Amino acid sequence: MSDLYHKVSNSPVGRSVVSALNLPAPVILERQTRSNAPFIEGEVLVSAAPGSTAIETICSVLGASTASLHYLENSGLESSSLIASADIKSKTKVSPIKVDAVDEKRRFKALVFDATGITTTEDLKAVYAFFHPVIRNVGKCGRIVIVGTEPSACATPAMAASQKALEGFIRSIAKEVGKKGTTAQVIYSVPGAESLIESPLRFFLSPRSAYVSGQTLSVSKAAKTKATDWNTPLSGKVALVTGASRGIGEAIANTLARDGAHVVCLDVPQAKDALEAVATKIGGSVLALDITSPDAPQIISSHFKKEFDGMDIVVHNAGITRDKTLGRMPEQSWDLLIDINLSSEERINDALFADEIFNKNARIVCVSSISGIAGNVGQSNYAASKAGVIGYVESLSKQLKGGVTINAVAPGFIETQMTAAIPFMIREAGRRMNSLNQGGQPGDVAETIAFFASPASQGMNGNVLRVCGQSLIGK
Ligand code: NAP
Repeated sequence: MSDLYHKVSNSPVGRSVVSALNLPAPVILERQTRSNAPFIEGEVLVSAAPGSTAIETICSVLGASTASLHYLENSGLESSSLIASADIKSKTKVSPIKVDAVDEKRRFKALVFDATGITTTEDLKAVYAFFHPVIRNVGKCGRIVIVGTEPSACATPAMAASQKALEGFIRSIAKEVGKKGTTAQVIYSVPGAESLIESPLRFFLSPRSAYVSGQTLSVSKAAKTKATDWNTPLSGKVALVTGASRGIGEAIANTLARDGAHVVCLDVPQAKDALEAVATKIGGSVLALDITSPDAPQIISSHFKKEFDGMDIVVHNAGITRDKTLGRMPEQSWDLLIDINLSSEERINDALFADEIFNKNARIVCVSSISGIAGNVGQSNYAASKAGVIGYVESLSKQLKGGVTINAVAPGFIETQMTAAIPFMIREAGRRMNSLNQGGQPGDVAETIAFFASPASQGMNGNVLRVCGQSLIGK
């Protein structure tokens, strides 16, 4: 589905018309073009509140990139010594810049702040002190990341308050910088899990997270898995993607295959031709099946047992809409939708667990929707199913063993056949009502799923990450 306004407003003539009329001009977002592209390039400014514990990991992650790292000298943050020690321990070169040397033309690709040391609300001043002088120096499609301590794991109410404050701060900053295509997020680590922030830090700093903004992610303690090959992190893994014949499902299959996985593409038998085309292109295989059929869970389980002796990744993507206000909604629209979008996922997972099909460190990723977070007129069935997905993920995440994780993505307005069916005015509003002033691409959802599917994402469990350009609806 193409966004004509986006195209026109980025043409030479259209740009001047849009500017003269003072209309929002969505920028062309930088996206991942090849799997081995550097995750970040350009100048990155790092800093830390006194007593912070993640700066060493931040420096070593960034040190592995081609970005040049800097910190502000004499910024009043007293972070110089922290950075210097992180610099030495992580063998990363971090060079100082004097605060008054940051002239207005200087452009940073990213600002990264370690706020784990903030324990009182007075300490929050450190956030202001770091971002205030340099926020306007972040370039187009820039990245802002704060690393904090998970509020629910804070030792005191004062610390929980100051850490939770980072969420409100970043959500506001994301709205201020969104028009430039820049994103802003918080990674919350539980104390002791700071070494596991590498995967979310790389993701949030890279073009892979182009359409994710104003979000928080929680990282918990987990056993370390072996070193990740960041170009093909899913090499040797076997994945199942439901609803893979088109739209977001097709993009997920492409992205998981690009990252090295063998993908079993599942969709309804009527979509077999399209499904085979997707699978052939990526060297995957096909399972043409209606996930609501009574024998579907057993067929899937037996297929993976027989063909692969296990499963590493399942992405529950298949979903439908049957929009009608509740008083006009036929019973079968409720029943069918809940069955496809919610109940069948449970039944498939139950069979996979019962037959011990999931391999160690397997990844389950579910597709929710911002409709499930905010609700929507005419979508009581759809919103119920997608909120149900969130409840399911949050609950099941607490029961998993053997390094298995479950997370969800909640897409906003994504350009697919599903959203092409929305009436024009509502579709246009859906596209523009977010900080980036545009709809997302199926690949944006797929990149986020691939991030959760990575072996390096073992610290993420029970998260719901919105891929919505910071949609104005929902929280
Ligand atoms: P889509 O283009 O309609 O693709 C969904 C695929 O799932 C279709 O091929 C569909 O087949 C298949 N499917 C439906 N029922 C099935 C069943 N019983 N068994 C097996 N496959 C089945 O949708 P999409 O836009 O890519 O959306 C993918 C997921 O993202 C859905 O869960 C959706 O709710 C979610 N989502 C999408 C958006 C968005 O903006 N597009 C936003 C938020 C969330 P049929 O041809 O039979 O329909």
